Amino acid sequence: MKREEMIARVRERSEPWDVIVIGGGATGAGVAVDAATRGFSVLLLEREDFAKGTSSRSTKLVHGGVRYLEQGNVSLVMEALKERGILRQNAPHLVHDVQFVVPNYSWWEAPFYGIGLKIYDLLAGKYGFGKSELLSREETLERLPTLRQDGLRGGVIYHDGQFDDSRLLIHLIATAVDHGAVALNYAPVIELQKDADGFVDGVIAVDSETSERFTLQARVVVNATGIFTDEIRRMADKQADTMVAPSQGIHLVLDRSFLRGNTAVMVPHTSDGRVLFAIPWHEHTVVGTTDTPIEHASYEPLPFEQEIEFVLETASEYLSWPPKREDVLSIYVGIRPLVKAGGEAGKTSALSRDHTIHIDQSGLLTIVGGKWTTYRHMAEDTVNHAITLGKLADSPCVTHDLHIHGYAENIDPHEGLAVYGSDAEQILQVAKERPELAKQLHPDLPYIAAEVVWAARMEMARSVEDVLARRTRALFLNAHAAIAMAPDVASLLAAEFGKDKAWAETEVKNFNQLAEQYTLQKTEV
Ligand SMILES: Cc1cc2nc3c(=O)[nH]c(=O)nc-3n(C[C@H](O)[C@H](O)[C@H](O)COP(=O)(O)OP(=O)(O)OC[C@H]3O[C@@H](n4cnc5c(N)ncnc54)[C@H](O)[C@@H]3O)c2cc1C
Repeated sequence: MKREEMIARVRERSEPWDVIVIGGGATGAGVAVDAATRGFSVLLLEREDFAKGTSSRSTKLVHGGVRYLEQGNVSLVMEALKERGILRQNAPHLVHDVQFVVPNYSWWEAPFYGIGLKIYDLLAGKYGFGKSELLSREETLERLPTLRQDGLRGGVIYHDGQFDDSRLLIHLIATAVDHGAVALNYAPVIELQKDADGFVDGVIAVDSETSERFTLQARVVVNATGIFTDEIRRMADKQADTMVAPSQGIHLVLDRSFLRGNTAVMVPHTSDGRVLFAIPWHEHTVVGTTDTPIEHASYEPLPFEQEIEFVLETASEYLSWPPKREDVLSIYVGIRPLVKAGGEAGKTSALSRDHTIHIDQSGLLTIVGGKWTTYRHMAEDTVNHAITLGKLADSPCVTHDLHIHGYAENIDPHEGLAVYGSDAEQILQVAKERPELAKQLHPDLPYIAAEVVWAARMEMARSVEDVLARRTRALFLNAHAAIAMAPDVASLLAAEFGKDKAWAETEVKNFNQLAEQYTLQKTEV
């Protein structure tokens, strides 16, 4: 994945692309992988960095969604459980099994959640991760020593999947590129092109780094822009109605000591009728999330004060050592691209998590909604529609058994470079050639300098933010540590890109400004 090569391939192409995908999140990357592996020529264009939108801000679960079972959406749960199994099979370096405990404080909870989770196991069928079981009080505390003990009767344990979202995204882009696709970050689509009959037959995109404009033709244009879906639809039709109801969710990241072991907690019914998770992730504890309807889509939304209070209060009800504001190492906020429905006004938690495929009168193919977990199935569905719409060759989907870039078995997820899978060896090689690159960049985070060099050379990272937010997860794990790492990362990038000191200083300044938001300094009231 080298950006200059990607730009050169865009410039060279005179033929129309079979498929142009707008948006480099989970949905767009999935479509690019699906289309490229069916043999189509594919160009993916991302306005910012890959995963800059919602796809780096999830709860990090590859799951069926116990909550959707409670809502009676059995088909969504079954589909997601199947996709969970397929994803672990195709990306064992990136998806692993985590045990969750639902703690029981009332007599009815063990039979109630016990039966619910047995159904969850059943729906997974051959894709199951392990059987759910009832735990005694002692067994529960053995797994979760930091749980509030007062009134605890026992628990129910079940299995689900966990991943690193932006890392999987980079590996999906790499998979698409391995199969011939071209993918460009920092390349916004600014206009759609139409033929004489008013059908969308291409796009105008810009390279944000040089302002070079590209007029590009395509047999099918896929709009996979998540919360920005309606912006693109209005490029095709100014009068297009609103499809997306944005809903914000926050996560607080705490020290690992708040959970200690490798078991997660699932609170099945919070005061606002949702679920709350406390999950061990990259040697930290992630707690979330919320579901707050908001007016507008944006890249860096601020958390609301009530959301922070709600997460801290709910966590305090279940943990013997209640987390406080000053314990928060990082706070990150994401916006769900939910599809509007009749439903109860203002309540986005009741909106469906199913995906929607929509073809406008202009022939623009929009895919929106769904979940990270179901990206593969969403992509298959989208490309099937694209084949009909663009009169493309009827080739079958092959992603069911397709290994994701870096595929490697028997990896210990707690091992330093585990998420890179088979690429880890090459990163170690970079460090071997220049021993100063084996240096850890901060004592509280495991990242080494060679990862920065690798991100710049092979993963199209262009800025300090790209490296600290999405190639590594420093910003999401510990914002102050990330700020401390920024000058070293900027110098390493400047050396790779042949930039001067002034460039590095500006990069650090820009990053610090953004990172401040992750330190709980700024909130919406
Ligand atoms: C708080 C929260 C928790 C979640 N937890 C989970 C979970 O644990 N498990 C799970 O399965 N799912 C989870 N989800 C859902 C999941 O994260 C989303 O469904 C998924 O990331 C959406 O991906 P997307 O590609 O559609 O959108 P995005 O990731 O937002 O990608 C859209 C991309 O389009 C780009 N774009 C916009 N306009 C243009 C343009 N003009 N030109 C080029 N590019 C453009 C944007 O820059 C963006 O990168 C969660 C969501 C939230 C908000």
